[in-house]
Amino acid sequence: MANLADENKFFADVCKNFDSAAQFTNHPEGLLNQIKACNSVYRFQFPIRRGNGFEVIDAWRVEHSHHMSPTKGGIRYSEMVNEDEVMALAALMTYKCAIVNVPFGGAKGGIKINTKQYSVAELETITRRYTTELIKKNFIGPGIDVPAPDYGSGEREMSWIADTYMTMNPGQLDALGCVTGKPIALHGIRGRKEATGRGVAYAVRECVDVAEDMAKIGLKAGLGDKRVVVQGLGNVGYHSAKFLAEFGATIVGLCEYEGAIYNANGLNVDEVFAHRKNTGSILGFPGATDFRNSMEGLEQECDIIVPAALENQFTELNIRNIKAKIIAEGANGPTTPEAEVIFTEMGGIIIPDMYCNAGGVTVSYFEWLKNLSHVAFGRMENRYAANSNANLIATLENLTGKTILPEHRLMIVKGASEMELVNSGLEDTMIHSYHEIRETLKVKPGTETLRTAAFVNSIDKIAVSYMNLGVWP
Ligand code: GLU
Repeated sequence: MANLADENKFFADVCKNFDSAAQFTNHPEGLLNQIKACNSVYRFQFPIRRGNGFEVIDAWRVEHSHHMSPTKGGIRYSEMVNEDEVMALAALMTYKCAIVNVPFGGAKGGIKINTKQYSVAELETITRRYTTELIKKNFIGPGIDVPAPDYGSGEREMSWIADTYMTMNPGQLDALGCVTGKPIALHGIRGRKEATGRGVAYAVRECVDVAEDMAKIGLKAGLGDKRVVVQGLGNVGYHSAKFLAEFGATIVGLCEYEGAIYNANGLNVDEVFAHRKNTGSILGFPGATDFRNSMEGLEQECDIIVPAALENQFTELNIRNIKAKIIAEGANGPTTPEAEVIFTEMGGIIIPDMYCNAGGVTVSYFEWLKNLSHVAFGRMENRYAANSNANLIATLENLTGKTILPEHRLMIVKGASEMELVNSGLEDTMIHSYHEIRETLKVKPGTETLRTAAFVNSIDKIAVSYMNLGVWP
């Protein structure tokens, strides 16, 4: 977790990674500086009524890059939030969107509170006031800047934002596109909640499926024999673990702030989740070994670690203790540049955050498209496809005199649901982007890591947008 000493390092770390990659592009220095800079940093404070008095809340919204509109990125609710962190996270959003071809600039918001210390009514007041402040400064809107959930926020907060925005913009047809990650009842999209974790699982699967790359780090191809440790049982960590297990991997370790558990024979993620809910702690799960120091959980025998909590988890101080060969960054910025150098020397592979956790914003893009088109994906064609498939089968059965099995009929006849379309769009995006990054790593001499290659692709795409905008002569 970021501490005070690190307060001004996160954005610098993102810029450091950018600079390492920029040398493999041939854009003018001024353009590179423009891509790197945070275009707008809005810091504000507002009061809320608390007890018999008032409390002043610190908040931020950073729009990192306007090379595309709207800008996009979550709002973090945490007492650790500071300006440097929001700037770094906004910058990562820019690069992330470019990597997965989501046509947005990057942004991020922060509200400096410990959500556990506020009532639901107070959280609602804070969220609505935060939204109002953004509206006053033109920092939110379906074509301007579109927030989403991040650490400490979810569907509930997004529905308050949507409602506040719609109230203040009566009659604006596309108002619901002002925020994503909304509940389905408020025109959210199916699959958004699990999207980041599902995307992490696709990313890992893509990486371990390349036999040539796995041979280099002494692993076999495929997820079947892979042991995984996941840090964080929040939305991203829980879903990453769940889908990785579904795709064949064994979850051997789970880490939370109160400690970690490990079982070489595997852990059932849902059972651990239920255990934590019932007992208030991940520790004491039947059959697993407890570690009171959560970081120890990350140092156990495994092939893959998925950090899905906060930034700065792997530094030059602890990276040498990691036994995994692959770090799949579900969180933003979990590995410092110094730690990455050491881990690469140790022969490890890092699947970088800006690609690995891009599933969330990818499905946010689908939600935004749904809101702008005012119709759910599949609504117009679902039944049409089912009927024409049924006609096709009937014709074939007539011609051949054979009858298809009922379970096969069900599978072939049905049209695609919104969830299936979302998941297929997400899977395709993650597969395509992985190979785009891997290709750059192969063909650009000097790009030694997937992160550098991902940055190169991202910088090239953003540079083209700037030139097409005519902003750059
Ligand atoms: N907060 C998420 C992220 O860091 C999602 C952003 C979005 O959906 O706009 O990628």
